[in-house]
Amino acid sequence: MTQHTSFRIAVLPGDGIGIEVIDAALEVLNAAQEKAGGYRLNLESLPAGAGEYVTNGVALPEDTLKAAEESDAILLGAMGLPSVRYPDGTEIAPQLDLRFHFNLYAGVRPSMTFANGPSALVDPRGGDINFVLIRESTEGLFASRGKGVVVDDREARDTLVITRDTSERLFDFSFELARQRKAQGHPGHVTLVDKANVFTSFAFFREIFDERAANYPDIGSDHLYVDATALDMVRRPWEFDVLVTENMFGDILSDLAAGLVGGMGFAPSADIGDNNAVFQPAHGTAPDIMGTGKANPVACILSAAMMLDWLGAKHDTPGCLRAAQLIKDAVAITISEKGIKTADVGGSHSTSDVVRAVVDAIAEA
Ligand code: ATP
Repeated sequence: MTQHTSFRIAVLPGDGIGIEVIDAALEVLNAAQEKAGGYRLNLESLPAGAGEYVTNGVALPEDTLKAAEESDAILLGAMGLPSVRYPDGTEIAPQLDLRFHFNLYAGVRPSMTFANGPSALVDPRGGDINFVLIRESTEGLFASRGKGVVVDDREARDTLVITRDTSERLFDFSFELARQRKAQGHPGHVTLVDKANVFTSFAFFREIFDERAANYPDIGSDHLYVDATALDMVRRPWEFDVLVTENMFGDILSDLAAGLVGGMGFAPSADIGDNNAVFQPAHGTAPDIMGTGKANPVACILSAAMMLDWLGAKHDTPGCLRAAQLIKDAVAITISEKGIKTADVGGSHSTSDVVRAVVDAIAEA
């Protein structure tokens, strides 16, 4: 692997608080780059989203897509506004189009609690929540997006699709991630979430999972039905390590997972394919709080750290890995030691208070 130190980053702030949390993440990225050294991000801000649709009639302009194709990674805020819709009534969601365009099959959704930070649950034995849910992001029930049919106003059908090719890549990705996490002290275990007791598609999914699991004897594996997973995410979330599931199940469970650790403002995410990746907070544009300075930027800041981790591992760039760790540590200090809390978790700190605390913690590291 040849070492890279200069990266082109396509930045798509989007709409609503997407713009505000991206501004926050860029300040933190700059501070981390200065402190860690050894690499350079060339950030290019690009138009896309509901605002762009209103102004120019296109939600994802061709020039933006081309720049994204040529970039090393894509950092995205949030897109769509309830008041702006396509003629058929659906919302503007170029972030979904990017997943399909770049074949970003692995939706990586980490959930973690911080000491003294928000948490919906407390483990009587003092455990921390720290698991990663991987949501397949290009097929499953979402394969039917835009293709559902209504027959004679009598019935409607959407079809769920599981392919061997995507499933093999998805499971290999999940086991590789569990292996990386094991090296950092996590259990090294992958749980498949399915409904194999009812559906042929999920029995097939499970069969492929077991085949791939056999190639990773150092990593544990098991299966859990999706209904039992919902129960256990509330009953014993501190016991999970890596979970992998179909698109629709992952859509639902990742919001539940975010709810366990303080809500959408604390939920970073990455959509990763074989060659490209989009990093974005799991939340939407939150029109109710846009422009008020109340947006919690932690999810976006942690998504930026995930981008540095991914770039560092892919291109063998230790500076990126150092910067990612600086950001993660600084966020932990901001929440656990400085007690910074935004309005979504009952505090009164602003977006810029969080940024200042994180940037200071990086400078003091
Ligand atoms: P989408 O469909 O695009 O995911 P949504 O309307 O379902 O969006 P969000 O926009 O993610 O949901 O958020 C719902 C509500 O949660 C917001 O209206 C806002 O009050 C709150 N919220 C979401 N993200 C944040 C954040 N980063 N900081 C503070 N509050 C947030």
